[in-house]
Amino acid sequence: MLDLAIIGGGPAGLTAGLYATRGGLENVVMYEKGMPGGQITQSSEVENYPGITEVVTGMELMQDWPEQCMRFGLKHDMAEVVRVSRPEGPCFKVSLGDGSVITAKSVIVATGSTPKRAGFKGEDEFFGRGVSTCATCDGFFYRDKEVAVIGGGDTALEEALFLANICSKVYLVHRRDEFRAAPSTVKRVEENGKIELVLNAVPEEVYGDNMGVQGLKVKKRDSAETVDIPVPGVFVFVGNIVNNDVLKQEDGSFLCEVNEWGEVVVDLAMRTSEEGLFAAGDVRIMAPKQVVCAAGDGANAAIGAIAYVEHLKRENIC
Ligand code: FAD
Ligand code: NAP
Repeated sequence: MLDLAIIGGGPAGLTAGLYATRGGLENVVMYEKGMPGGQITQSSEVENYPGITEVVTGMELMQDWPEQCMRFGLKHDMAEVVRVSRPEGPCFKVSLGDGSVITAKSVIVATGSTPKRAGFKGEDEFFGRGVSTCATCDGFFYRDKEVAVIGGGDTALEEALFLANICSKVYLVHRRDEFRAAPSTVKRVEENGKIELVLNAVPEEVYGDNMGVQGLKVKKRDSAETVDIPVPGVFVFVGNIVNNDVLKQEDGSFLCEVNEWGEVVVDLAMRTSEEGLFAAGDVRIMAPKQVVCAAGDGANAAIGAIAYVEHLKRENIC
């Protein structure tokens, strides 16, 4: 029986592992289906992690995190978790992809989220070299330059407003002439002198060279004309997949409360609605989707898990 099962080995899961093992929990296993590090390892430039004064790659940022955790006893199982359930009693069942089932006194879900891709030519090729899904992460690299934002939902419009504070101009490219975003947000965008709307426009291709992106071609739906937007940065906000599958039960319900977008509802201590189950990082509600925040969540959740497991031991439960 594990004291704690951590699902996901990104910044949230790794930090949870560090705090849980250093805080005295025994038998703590982090289930990570790939190499530990999380989605930040895809980034070629990180310059907003506190204390790291150089611009580093995501891989460089994360390379020592696993070793630090393992030193205090965290075990890594390179396995995919299929489901977390609690069929009876206080213990959780963690079902793995190979069919095996582990029992744990507490669980931290730190499975992250995945921004959707729009699917235009060059999007994958230039991802991290001019194509981005994170304005907070990459906006500063385009300070006083022009950028394009793709999407018409709340995220796209809010991020366009964020970028307009940094960049000289933001082209907001949307495939329809109506936005999904809240009317108040649409109004702020329409009133912002730095944002130019490019509507009824479907992204066709991002182009560039070895140095990165040079522009975006969009096809107008009303005229079939192709418009060239010569920008070095293209931000794609066309929706987000919350990696909450592990919480889905056989009957389709979730083990704990999630909001209408599938984000796990937590309180300020990263406790979910299910006692002993915590969520940390990008998978939770209102996640700022930053490494430093995910790491903070992981620490917070582990502190909660330690207290919960101590309570079980005191009461001789489990
Ligand atoms: P993730 O990092 O997404 O980690 C989740 C882990 O869970 C993954 O490793 C995944 O393999 C694993 N997992 C998922 N499901 C399962 C399962 N069922 N079983 C086992 N394992 C599972 N943030 C910044 O602060 N600064 C930046 O400059 C920055 N740049 C970015 C650039 C890019 C290209 C990207 C993609 C993101 C960037 N971010 C940046 C955002 C940052 O990476 C995330 O906010 C952060 O990684 C979230 O951490 P997490 O631990 O919550 O989730
Ligand atoms: P979203 O609401 O699903 O919007 C995605 C946008 O991308 C849509 O405008 C869609 O166009 C467009 N799109 C999708 N696929 C595309 C493609 N292949 N090419 C070009 N455009 C494409 O996603 P979101 O903005 O990330 O928001 C997700 C949820 O979180 C929403 O419910 C939103 O309200 C919520 N949210 C709320 C807040 C807030 O309340 N402050 C902030 C952020 C997000 P169409 O409109 O034509 O489909």
